[in-house]
Amino acid sequence: MPFLVKCKCQHCNQPLEFDPTQAGEMIPCPSCQMDTMLFVPPKADFGRRNPKSDEDAPSKKNLGIVFCVAVVLAIIATASAVVESDSGVALIFVFPISLCSSILYFIPSLVGSKKNNFTAIFMLNLLAGWTFIGWVGALVWACVKDKNEGGTSVK
Ligand SMILES: [Zn+2]
Repeated sequence: MPFLVKCKCQHCNQPLEFDPTQAGEMIPCPSCQMDTMLFVPPKADFGRRNPKSDEDAPSKKNLGIVFCVAVVLAIIATASAVVESDSGVALIFVFPISLCSSILYFIPSLVGSKKNNFTAIFMLNLLAGWTFIGWVGALVWACVKDKNEGGTSVK
């Protein structure tokens, strides 16, 4: 397969694929019919995106989800503890303890927040974490390296 490079039409931004030996030639754009010059784009414009900015955003969102669920669980635990003990005094102490426990409970999800299969790890953690095996399983899974970590390789 010949090595093709991509550039964009200067008029309509239509992506164009061409052989690098054609660089500098004027061709009519297949999309808008205007003459456009084929050019080899700077490295940054190649298919490969900046991996940092791509991976950080979802992992922060995942962390946010885990913390929200942990806080909700802590509130539920606190509420039920207060209802059962029949005294509002304990609330101040019960809530931080519940919050710490639920964050500990979600350690596998926090570890796996950067993973492609975060949702699966999180579900296992949430649904089976109370069985110790489920918790350990989720943690081990979260530590397993992603198969395609570091972006898809260009062949
Ligand atoms: Zn065009």
